[in-house]
Amino acid sequence: MKVNCPTCQKTVQWSSSSRYRPFCSERCKLIDLGEWASEGHAIPGRSVEEELMSEQVNQELKPH
Ligand SMILES: [Zn+2]
Repeated sequence: MKVNCPTCQKTVQWSSSSRYRPFCSERCKLIDLGEWASEGHAIPGRSVEEELMSEQVNQELKPH
């Protein structure tokens, strides 16, 4: 049985010797996981940071 590597579309033999299946290599596996992780974490992390920043700015602008 053969599958295509999700990252580079290279044909991968689906067997127990293919350690990184369905990826052709560790590199492709990490690329795929890295893209998934950056998509999942970058947006909420950024928005929290922006929220804190704008909160600080609001407090500074508020008349005491
Ligand atoms: Zn690959």
